[in-house]
Amino acid sequence: MSEVPKCTRGLEPLLPTWEASVLTIRRREPGRKKCYYTPPWGLLKKYQPEYYCEPQLLTIELTDKPGSPNVIPRPEHIITRTNICESALKVLYRLKAAGFEAFLVGGGVRDLLLGREPKDFDIATNALPEEVTGLFRNSRLIGRRFKLVHVRFGREIIEVATFRSGHDAASDDMGRMEDGMILRDNVYGNLEDDAWRRDFTINSLYYDIRDFSVVDYTGGVSDLEKGVLRIIGDAEQRYLEDPVRMLRAVRFAAKLGFRIHADSEAPITRLGDRLEAVPAARLFDEMLKLFLSGYAVETFELLRHYDLFRYLFPETDDCLAKEEKGFPHMLVAKGLLNTDDRVAEGKPVTPAYLFAVLLWEPVRERAEALLAEGFSEVQSLQRAGDEVIAAQTQRVSLPKRFSLQTREIWTMQARLTRRNGKRAERLFAQARFRAAYDFLLLRADTGEDELQPLADWWTEYQEVNIDNRVNMAQQVPSGGARKKRRRRRKKVAQG
Ligand code: ATP
Ligand code: MG
Repeated sequence: MSEVPKCTRGLEPLLPTWEASVLTIRRREPGRKKCYYTPPWGLLKKYQPEYYCEPQLLTIELTDKPGSPNVIPRPEHIITRTNICESALKVLYRLKAAGFEAFLVGGGVRDLLLGREPKDFDIATNALPEEVTGLFRNSRLIGRRFKLVHVRFGREIIEVATFRSGHDAASDDMGRMEDGMILRDNVYGNLEDDAWRRDFTINSLYYDIRDFSVVDYTGGVSDLEKGVLRIIGDAEQRYLEDPVRMLRAVRFAAKLGFRIHADSEAPITRLGDRLEAVPAARLFDEMLKLFLSGYAVETFELLRHYDLFRYLFPETDDCLAKEEKGFPHMLVAKGLLNTDDRVAEGKPVTPAYLFAVLLWEPVRERAEALLAEGFSEVQSLQRAGDEVIAAQTQRVSLPKRFSLQTREIWTMQARLTRRNGKRAERLFAQARFRAAYDFLLLRADTGEDELQPLADWWTEYQEVNIDNRVNMAQQVPSGGARKKRRRRRKKVAQG
């Protein structure tokens, strides 16, 4: 393999006329003296064998020291090994001992540099996935979109990814769709390639286990200092490649309180509809990160600000656009606030409750219409819930184990009104009682004022002893707050 030629003046001397007409030249970062190009390998091999190298990213360096990263030595940053979890350190050390490069990367490095506690630790290495599994008995290959290795230590999982390259290197084989979206993303590369293919500069910082320095190719350290979230490369192209990056931009801006850089922000509103092409299962995973990480309120506000929310929850978005009794709908915002509080207190939060909150407005609207048609309260909620969930899962999937619970929370809203005699105790004993009660409080608190006496009754019911509970339930008139059941309209026979 011949050496990649170096050039100090520009591309011209490298590209005779015939070549210039067939080569794709990509300048990744305006202002960076670095070019990437994807030659037609067959032609290059035939006519210019001295320039030929294996089909991988071919870097033409335009300066003497191009692409050299900013390396922040150990004494000049705040990351200490005591803040890195032991399992991640074990993986890093073992990879290093086996002769591989190994770095902590992504959110782990970003959060440590910000003095925050990382959610998880991701590792990047030049070892191939099979080489990684060879080193760790407690590991397994996983790979939905690309091959990764999970190394398991008890309940903890450390994700190890082989350096990957961006898409310039093998554009013929990237599975790129017409609209620019990338379907496959598994071309291996080196550390520098790996840095440039990541989403945001602050997510592209590497902690080197050899000398504990931080390696920065993309300007992430300076953006961290400025509180700026900046996508790497051309924003529009990067969002088209993977529209989920727009949701990630919102998520990190909300979580870190960072400002999205003007260039990274500009295309978002325009490209929101690209989220429609993202598989519903992936959006479910992303949804949980957006709303169950403790910053749901800020995230929700930003999603609405950038007009992305409607691509995730179209029916809810329609409802939110309308006012209720002259006031904006508050249930979603208040429900998300409660979720954030629970996360902050270390209490469990469930996707079932989250979806109950996010989809309640359309369910309520539809249930009211069904009630007017003569269905019972429970039936109306059941039907409305089924319909709304069926439509919603086209967009963001909701696994059945959660959707069943979500439906129960909704239908229990009707059941909680019928609490006379033994009914109250039976409801109280149900697994979903607590969630349904919390949901009732939320409704009473956010516009459905008429529910306040019922919510207060249930609050008291839980505070008193068993004898008083029986008394309380006996004093509720039979039929309780049950709505009069109207007769169902007869269906007009067809045909
Ligand atoms: P968190 O604290 O939420 O885990 P994170 O930055 O670690 O944040 P992950 O989803 O764990 O986010 O991803 C790990 C890293 O992988 C990111 O920091 C980023 O460098 C890279 N990455 C993840 N998703 C993408 C994507 N869609 N496009 C490009 N790079 C990505
Ligand atoms: Mg992470």
